[in-house]
Order: sequence, then structure tokens, then C-alpha cells
Amino acid sequence: MDNDETAESELCENCDYIINCANENIFIITKGDDDKVWCQSCFEDLWKEAMKDGWAGDDIEEKMKELKKKAKKKAKKQKQK
Ligand SMILES: [Zn+2]
Repeated sequence: MDNDETAESELCENCDYIINCANENIFIITKGDDDKVWCQSCFEDLWKEAMKDGWAGDDIEEKMKELKKKAKKKAKKQKQK
């Protein structure tokens, strides 16, 4: 009955944490034919370094968008001062 468990959980390749896909986000990054699965905290810590290293993925693109938005907001604030 518990055979489905493996399909619903992924091992974080950085910290060996078992991610429960039903409750938690998993982050998948790719570089050529390689890919890595990371838990949220590893991704938050390491995505920038990974990107510099040539890794890519939807999750990294999302982060870049977020950063650009934040940078724009900051620029506006500084102008108002
Ligand atoms: Zn991790």
C-alpha cells in the first residue's frame, strides 16, 4: 500500500533531505544532460552560485524575475529621496 511513497518524495541532492512533494516545493535545475533536485532551503542558498556555474531551469528564471522586480522598486525609492 505504501509503494507510492517513493513517487511522492524526492531526495535533495545537496543535503540528503527527503522532500515530501505533496507538502513541499522541489526545485529542479539542469545543465546539459545533468539535472539536480534540491529542497527549498538549498535552492534559496545556492541558486545564484549554480547559475554562475551554468545551471538553469524555470525556478532559476523565476528567481531572476523576482530580483529584477525588487531592483526596480529599490531604484524608484532612491529617486524619491
Ligand atoms: Zn537540501
